[in-house]
Amino acid sequence: MRDIKELSLDELGKKLLSLGSNKYYAKEIFGWIYKKGALAFDRMSNLPAVLRRSLSEEFYILGLKPVGLEKSKDGVEKFLFELKDKNLVESVSIPASSRITGCISSQAGCKYACNFCASGLKGFKRNLSKGEILDEVLYLKNNCKAGSLTHIVFMGTGEPLDNYDNVIGAIRAINSRDALNIGARRITISTCGIIPGIERLAKEDLQVELSVSLHAADDKTRDMLMPVNKRYPLEKLMACLGQYIEKTNRQITFEYILIKGVNSGAASSQKLALLLKKIKLAKINLIPANPVAELNIAPPSRSDIISFKESLLKAGLNVTLRRERGQDISAACGQLRLKYEKI
Ligand code: SF4
Repeated sequence: MRDIKELSLDELGKKLLSLGSNKYYAKEIFGWIYKKGALAFDRMSNLPAVLRRSLSEEFYILGLKPVGLEKSKDGVEKFLFELKDKNLVESVSIPASSRITGCISSQAGCKYACNFCASGLKGFKRNLSKGEILDEVLYLKNNCKAGSLTHIVFMGTGEPLDNYDNVIGAIRAINSRDALNIGARRITISTCGIIPGIERLAKEDLQVELSVSLHAADDKTRDMLMPVNKRYPLEKLMACLGQYIEKTNRQITFEYILIKGVNSGAASSQKLALLLKKIKLAKINLIPANPVAELNIAPPSRSDIISFKESLLKAGLNVTLRRERGQDISAACGQLRLKYEKI
């Protein structure tokens, strides 16, 4: 059995022809799966019965099974899914006033082992397929309490640019009018700084947002927090991002997790201001660290967070401070999976 979501609209049309059917049913099938949330071919009442039977003999629609759910008082819901090979992945729905964001995983585990992240603690298992990524989006769309998703961020477990083809394939379906129809500017790819992936993304005909996990403005601190920096150090990364902006004319958001005693003092904010002033169209998103017991990290005090933000604003930078969400559940990426695997 194959996952039907691996097929593009064209590929599904060709498949229907090979089954002796009409390729125009492909749009109907996409509508049932992506717009109406059908989980069985039997529900597709406007398809001929013989076609529904052929499809159900060869394909399945949903490939993951929900095995855990945590609900925060502020409306954040964190889902844990088991894949067909028993690997686990997490997805989160985050409602805000005018939007509902789905935070999606792109890999089971992660090979980049960032020092502040629970996702890398159990190592890398495998890439998610395009269909599995779409499973997460569809499950959230059809089941999160807040309503339908308006935004998608690839900020869950895994490095999306390390699973490039499957992530871009899924984004094309998320963006397609025939499938989920979420605007490209409402889709964000978040990377730890994989230069070849950023270079490829600059050449795509997709207006998606790019977010870079920076977290330190000098190589020594970034090497310690993010081992990927040894492979793609700041100077090369910044040059690549400068070229990305030249080519796409799109803003880049720099994510910066504030960790007590590591990267949140006055010297760190000055280095950050110096580094990002060279990048036109840069926005900085400050994120107070989520405490992760296994990693012994904690956020700085509220006053230190505000001073850090103020010093960047004074330097003329575009800065936001992310509202802390889901603090009463396993909010940091990878925590719910870790908890489940410990049971
Ligand atoms: S922050 Fe991202 S790249 Fe780093 S270990 Fe976590 S999931 Fe992987």
